[in-house]
Amino acid sequence: VAHDAVTGLSILGATGSIGTSTLDVVARHPDRFRVRALAAHRDVAGMAGLCRRFRPELAVMADPDAAVALRRQLGDDLPGVRVAGGEAGLIEAATWPGVDCVVAAIVGAAGLMPTLAAARDGRRILLANKEVLVMAGELFMAEARAHGAVVLPVDSEHNAIFQCLPEAYPARDLDSLGIRRLILTASGGPFRARAPETLAQVTPDEACAHPNWSMGRKISVDSATMMNKGLELIEACRLFSAEPGRVDVVIHPQSIVHSLVEYRDGSLLAQLGQPDMRIPIAHALGWPERLVSGAESLDLAALARLDFEAPDPRRFPCLQLAYDALEAGGHACAVLNAANEVAVEAFLHGEIGYTRIAVVVAEVLERMSGGPAAADLEAIRGVDNEARSVALQVVRREAG
Ligand code: NAD
Ligand code: MG
Repeated sequence: VAHDAVTGLSILGATGSIGTSTLDVVARHPDRFRVRALAAHRDVAGMAGLCRRFRPELAVMADPDAAVALRRQLGDDLPGVRVAGGEAGLIEAATWPGVDCVVAAIVGAAGLMPTLAAARDGRRILLANKEVLVMAGELFMAEARAHGAVVLPVDSEHNAIFQCLPEAYPARDLDSLGIRRLILTASGGPFRARAPETLAQVTPDEACAHPNWSMGRKISVDSATMMNKGLELIEACRLFSAEPGRVDVVIHPQSIVHSLVEYRDGSLLAQLGQPDMRIPIAHALGWPERLVSGAESLDLAALARLDFEAPDPRRFPCLQLAYDALEAGGHACAVLNAANEVAVEAFLHGEIGYTRIAVVVAEVLERMSGGPAAADLEAIRGVDNEARSVALQVVRREAG
């Protein structure tokens, strides 16, 4: 490496759950990483705290008013930190000089533009922001390949699969590597065993109370509906160039086996560990080396058992919607993602009931079915906007 052996980092979504876990791992290795850029939405106090602790060269608030407030807060004690705002600021953070590795941990569609910019700049990308792959996976992976950007999955299931793939991946495809199936595990969320007829009454706080993982609210609701697994199914197909028929989902309530790869001889390789996101984050930060993550050892004897079961399609209709969107092809996955973001937001704000999330997404998918795959970013944004406005119409009608 030209400058030195220190890895320069940019963390997009620094104040969130993944951002915070990343900085926890980074802080354990002060000689190895240098935080050069941080970006977040509008948590000014949180960002100011991170700036004092990690001294980045650039701090970005996507909300322009929040950027002004951050500049004011940092004024006297940290005059050397450049503060920027808006989407231009996010792109600046994704392509900041001296950054070897961009952690893409913004939630939702807002992360697409900066993550794509990092790919076009050939940066190593630690990808948590799965919506990028769902909305624009083909375009994003093509840009990454064309510009030599290495994409390392941080999502625990995809990171597990990556760990179970042979070294010859990605130079060779799954077939030539003798891989039969990728198996995603799913916890089943907080409602795995709840009577389906009581689901309509569920509150946002109940939906966000995940049994094994502590995460942001949007992904927590997605875990409850299993739309998260649907998004991850699409994510797996795009990341690993896998046909949908090659990816299976199995419920595993303990969240210890993070996913598996089945080879054609019948061997299954799995990655196991505590449900602690610092493990996949440390794997991606250090790859191909291994770093201390701060996660505890797994005591298999104390664990005693691991359970597996097939997902119940009546309880989890969102999972089937994701298979449908993949099969429909074209712009359907982007429509699914946008409709889901709107529906989850409406649920979190008390505008629609929990069981209506799947109904809203299904209706938007049906109304917008058959569109072509978007060839560029502008087309993707067009589809995203249209699906959001159709979803809003459906939500308003639902809300009466
Ligand atoms: P979170 O809500 O805790 O944090 C989101 C971060 O994104 C925050 O820093 C926020 O400031 C920033 N952000 C939100 N809107 C933004 C905008 N418009 N512009 C710029 N920044 C914005 O979410 P999270 O749980 O950390 O999840 C982040 C991503 O990682 C999601 O795509 C999620 O699906 C994925 N992921 C999370 C986990 C987990 O355990 N939390 C696991 C796997 C994948
Ligand atoms: Mg996951």
